[in-house]
Amino acid sequence: MPLAAGSVMSKYANTVPTPQSTTKNNVAGKKALFPFQNKGKRMSTYPTAKTAMYEEAAAKRTSFPQIQQPPSPFQVQCMQVAKSEAVYTFMSSLIEGENMEREGLAETPARVAKAWKHWTSGYDIDIGKLLKTFEDGAEGCDQMVVRKNIPIYSKCEHHLADIFGTCTIAYIPNGRVLGLSKMDRLADAFARRLQVQERLTNQIADAMMEHLSPKGVGVFLNCRHMCVESRGVQNQDSATITSALRGLFLTDAMVRSEFLALARA
Ligand SMILES: [Zn+2]
Repeated sequence: MPLAAGSVMSKYANTVPTPQSTTKNNVAGKKALFPFQNKGKRMSTYPTAKTAMYEEAAAKRTSFPQIQQPPSPFQVQCMQVAKSEAVYTFMSSLIEGENMEREGLAETPARVAKAWKHWTSGYDIDIGKLLKTFEDGAEGCDQMVVRKNIPIYSKCEHHLADIFGTCTIAYIPNGRVLGLSKMDRLADAFARRLQVQERLTNQIADAMMEHLSPKGVGVFLNCRHMCVESRGVQNQDSATITSALRGLFLTDAMVRSEFLALARA
């Protein structure tokens, strides 16, 4: 019966109101925006305590796409509620045989929404502002600068499963250097998005080239993918290694071999 969950989702999809239908007095519109408020016991658990806020959120929801200014604290709160609802729908649709009303799961939708905000926080980061470079300190610096074993926590874009491992970033300065921790932050900014490891590796290398203009960049990732280890081929103890080489790291065999030896050690 694989369509059972899908039918729940499509039921909601068909009842999502158009902006015109969602007025303060349009009860059907409000119910459609918060469908699980009408699901029996659910009324007495997590949404009901905030009924007034929910109703106000429902009345204002349609104005969100037109917001030009940063959202107010109230609007942020409303969006968090909407995200919690989305997680509730996601869980109740996909996880069969679970009682979504039990105590241990009552706060889970809000908790998951908050966790995903962090796991995808890379989208909010301005890479140009992050990669502040300095001439001061770069005098005579023409050898490889290496940051090794930077932690990577990412999400596979195909399964939303964990990708984790380490990253090594190296560059040869060309009159400017970068704060060392900025390389960690750069890797994290691209990792905290939905990713495939190949793109993640290239994005780190290309950002270094674009914003630092070094003589060359090498990026090396060694990661584990939970979509490979915990499902599918279930191949544990496997790792995926990717590298992205730019400038001298690509054209000079000695630079390339020095970097790869350092990264693999
Ligand atoms: Zn995957």
